[in-house]
Amino acid sequence: MNYAEVSVNSPAARRRSFSYTVPEGMDVRVGQAVLVPFGEKVLQGVVIELNAIPAVEDTKEIIDVITPEPLVSLQHLALARWISDYYLSPIFDAVALMLPPGFERKAVTFVNLARPDVDLALLSEDQRKILEMIPGQDRVELKKLEKTLGKKKTSSLVSSMVRQNLLARTYELAPVRIKPKKELYITLAGNVGRASELPAKQAALFRLLTERKVPVAWSEARRQTGTTKSVADALVRRGLAVFQEMEVRREPISYINIQASFPLAFTPAQQDAFNIVSSALHSAKPDVFLMRGVTGSGKTEVYLQALAEAVKLGKKGICLVPEIALTPQTIERFAARFPHRVAVLHSRLSLGEQYDEWHRIRRGEFDVVIGSRSAIFAPQPDLGLIVIDEEHEWTYKQDNSPYYHARAVALKLAGLTGAVVLLGSATPDIDSFYKAQNGEYKLITLPERVVPTAGAPLPRVEIVDMREELKAGNLSIFSRSLSHAINGAVAAGEQVILFLNRRGAATFIQCRSCGFVLRCRRCEVPLSQHIVGNVLICHQCGYKTPVPQVCPNCSRPRLKFLGAGTQKLEQETRYAFPRARQLRWDSDVITSKTSHEVVLKQFRDRQADILIGTQMVAKGLDIPAVTLVGVVSADTSLNLPDFRAGERTFQLLSQVAGRAGRGPSGGRVIIQTFSPDHYAIQAAARHDYVSFYEQEIAFRRQLHNPPFTQLARVVYTHTNEAVCQREAEEMKQRLLAEMAARGIGGVDIVGPAPAFIRRLRGRFRWQLVLRGTNLSAFLSPLALPHGWTVDIDPVSLVQ
Ligand code: ADP
Ligand code: ZN
Repeated sequence: MNYAEVSVNSPAARRRSFSYTVPEGMDVRVGQAVLVPFGEKVLQGVVIELNAIPAVEDTKEIIDVITPEPLVSLQHLALARWISDYYLSPIFDAVALMLPPGFERKAVTFVNLARPDVDLALLSEDQRKILEMIPGQDRVELKKLEKTLGKKKTSSLVSSMVRQNLLARTYELAPVRIKPKKELYITLAGNVGRASELPAKQAALFRLLTERKVPVAWSEARRQTGTTKSVADALVRRGLAVFQEMEVRREPISYINIQASFPLAFTPAQQDAFNIVSSALHSAKPDVFLMRGVTGSGKTEVYLQALAEAVKLGKKGICLVPEIALTPQTIERFAARFPHRVAVLHSRLSLGEQYDEWHRIRRGEFDVVIGSRSAIFAPQPDLGLIVIDEEHEWTYKQDNSPYYHARAVALKLAGLTGAVVLLGSATPDIDSFYKAQNGEYKLITLPERVVPTAGAPLPRVEIVDMREELKAGNLSIFSRSLSHAINGAVAAGEQVILFLNRRGAATFIQCRSCGFVLRCRRCEVPLSQHIVGNVLICHQCGYKTPVPQVCPNCSRPRLKFLGAGTQKLEQETRYAFPRARQLRWDSDVITSKTSHEVVLKQFRDRQADILIGTQMVAKGLDIPAVTLVGVVSADTSLNLPDFRAGERTFQLLSQVAGRAGRGPSGGRVIIQTFSPDHYAIQAAARHDYVSFYEQEIAFRRQLHNPPFTQLARVVYTHTNEAVCQREAEEMKQRLLAEMAARGIGGVDIVGPAPAFIRRLRGRFRWQLVLRGTNLSAFLSPLALPHGWTVDIDPVSLVQ
């Protein structure tokens, strides 16, 4: 095999790979990282194929290998190709997902003298200048020459001098930015001392150091002896101790306070679930299971034991959880079951931590990798089981190129490796449940809660019709029922969560009298208000209409823009319940790495009576003292201009409702809405997923929405909105022409329309939504001009 197909790290490479010659004597294997010439530059690349004949006639040589061993497995390369083909992303972007953190580096070019015996008299002045800048026999960085002589001039001079065999180029990768982790240690110093002659605190520290003999991490010494830095400094001044920086291995999981846990005795439903998954593991059948079970039904226990079963069979596992659910509690639960055999991967780890974990995973040091979306690319060898918890979560979709969905990637990876996939959710994605109904996935149901007691009832959910409140003269954001319940709970020393979905706030328009929401006639989605020109606009198809004076339904002049933010809610709450202590939890108050934990801990420690929050409070909060959950308005998510608004609302309400009644005192949920009869709200109140699904799937079928079709969102961004609109219109014509030319039918193009978030970081955005089948294949041959992005299978049309 003398030729290598290389995926090159350059945006110019787009979705192509390039052919290179493997130089004589160089050992190059598939999956290996190499340095290759690319135009004027030298770039990193990964070998994705070896061939006996090149794909093009004229091939350059590979310059060097970066790593002696392949970095990417054949399975991962196949996965990267699939991602590139399906999501239409550059191959290198897809390959990069599988590379170790911090891999991407620039190659630095050096030049040196090619021979020592140059006759300076024969050289031009510029050539001499270059030689003068090369110290002795050594080399100089090309950048340095460019700084003095200019880029263009250097480039042509160096090229001609290389041709004349005066100079040679060499390449090296820029140094890794990852530094070894250092920690402060304290240890005994030269002087001999006696603890009895020291003040008490210094004595305690001195004793610890004497006992240990080896250096002790300062953080640990401080904790163990209860001393401060000034105490230690005093000991250092006496010459009895010394501080030193030592290199330590990064370990994201601290096992110090984790006690090993043992498998629980299953309930019958869990046992059935386990048996089904276990038999697939034993027969190595790459089945996909969808496990539906409300929160607290014991899904995680099934994951843990299924993973343990895979390990027993000599295999390994990956478990994905949403980023927000990757709390110390979750990690601890896994770490306790697989002590020292769990790796954690998520974006909040430092690059160094990610780097260390990646290499240890690759060496097979962990039974289980737990992490958020990108952990699906962990180089876990012998993959036997992939678990995706909360599989319906939208955060599994990457929101920049490659726009992959971790669930889709997991299914593909399982196909390549023979691994079993276990998806779990209380409210499965409509698409997943549809597949389970079709037999594509195998459905497993955990029908009951196991906490606080087996078969514990789900909390009672009450729907409050806010139109009635208005009629009764109550203009507050709290209905009579909710404020009564809040007062009752606070007086009884119980805790309350108030949930507000802020996204899309104040963009839709609703009649305060009859609850009617203005919708697009074509798309059925709510119209959004555009401040400019006071018009209503459909964000899917671009339909526009002036804001009417009266409600088209009841003719009363009560149309209002609705929605309030969490800050407003905080004020109102303070005003309405002056004696309750409250705490706000949303992305504005979350700043540092730990602040989620801080807010949660405050609430768990009963430092507040009421927790006010957005989406975040919906996930994974398990606080027994919470007896009341109030959904201030279910309408904000219900009225998002997206066909998935109903699904999203149902999921959110179900999750929020799952927060109440985790303790012995039971729970109650109050949902305030202007649309009390909406099927998503009704079904959520009854905890009835199946009836929600049936209604929803019927609508999807009727309106030709996924899973009956596939969507692609094509977005153009530009600083000038008129340019945006023109480009988008031209693109639509181009796509229509393409369809006609290739005889492709059954693809609708909706739009162009301004995106829901019309302006982002100073750029306007217009979108086209394609609806049809095989959209990747349709779009694949089209090279979209600069400024366009394609999102295949978007999870949201309102981004
Ligand atoms: P889910 O993942 O569905 O929300 P979990 O697995 O977290 O459910 O279970 C909820 C709680 O019930 C946890 O505290 C867990 O330890 C406990 N639990 C789960 N299964 C059992 C069981 N078979 N026996 C006793 N307790 C259980
Ligand atoms: Zn429309």
